Amino acid sequence: MTRILLKNKLDDCIAAWQKAGYSVLAPVQRHDMSSFDEVQKGSDMALDLILTERTIKDQFFPQTEPLIKYNISKKEIASETMTPPDKKRVFFGVRPCDASGLAIDDPLFGWDYKDDYWFKRRENSVIISIACTEADDFCMCTSVKLSPDSTKGADVMLRPLANGNGWQVDAVSDRGTALLESVSSLLEESSDEAAPVPQVAEKFDVEKVMEWLGDKENFESQFWKDISMRCIGCGSCTFLCPTCHCFDIQDEGDTYQGIRRKNWDSCSFALFTMHTSGHNPRNAQSTRWRQRIMHKFNYYRGKFGVNSCSGCGRCTRQCPVDMGITETLQAITNLPR
Ligand code: SF4
Ligand code: SF4
Repeated sequence: MTRILLKNKLDDCIAAWQKAGYSVLAPVQRHDMSSFDEVQKGSDMALDLILTERTIKDQFFPQTEPLIKYNISKKEIASETMTPPDKKRVFFGVRPCDASGLAIDDPLFGWDYKDDYWFKRRENSVIISIACTEADDFCMCTSVKLSPDSTKGADVMLRPLANGNGWQVDAVSDRGTALLESVSSLLEESSDEAAPVPQVAEKFDVEKVMEWLGDKENFESQFWKDISMRCIGCGSCTFLCPTCHCFDIQDEGDTYQGIRRKNWDSCSFALFTMHTSGHNPRNAQSTRWRQRIMHKFNYYRGKFGVNSCSGCGRCTRQCPVDMGITETLQAITNLPR
């Protein structure tokens, strides 16, 4: 017997969490764009989407975020640190690749400096993942050794029932156990079967990729120029990636007052590494594409022991020139050794 949440109890669940002080966020389809946003009831949720176009990352690391407000007068320089709202949140229906993305980024945001903006939101959030029942040709979680029902990064795991009436519910962390305890009267014991997870074929050999990238001889390979010819450096692949985390800090204002902001940046942009002198060490799109692949499958693993990719496939799904990471990783896999 397993505990299940029936769909007809979902609204009561949401109401119970709201009463306990949580905002509930879930996949929604609004204004031609799917993303995670606050919901009031189950019918607001778009749980049938294979994946939202925007990632859950947006809710932990916003595209732009004020850090400090400053004011300079003749007598003093005043500054006020701006912190994210102290709000408890439940994220319902997070796909395993997005939940894994959060876990992949945790060590980065706590490495040389603890990013309170990230961790305050992380500590105030409970992640309810939902196993996939469908995949498309772009999904590649199995290629990075995850799966359509991976619990990495989850506090609670939902497995959709084969009869479509609800979900099997399992706590994965202490935080998830506590959240389920708060709605235990709404859960039922049942032997209803979970729907099967989809078969996601491995699209490349990640071991071969890591081995080739680790060989310094390949850094200047003609391969990088050939494979990245189509890239227009739009940065969509980085902005839509659940694990890409680069940002820049800029002051917006004038001599007397303004706001210091943290803004997303992208290694795909020429300006990302442009020096004030005008020199750019990554002066071609091929060098910037190489950086993205090296960072995800070599440098990040060297520093934190994991690859910086959860296999969501968004970078390939959304690339305007039909490029993306899968093609490159497949080509590396198939290079003659
Ligand atoms: S790979 Fe595609 S999405 Fe990424 S920067 Fe190049 S053109 Fe844009
Ligand atoms: S690199 Fe591409 S497939 Fe990997 S997590 Fe980022 S968007 Fe998803």
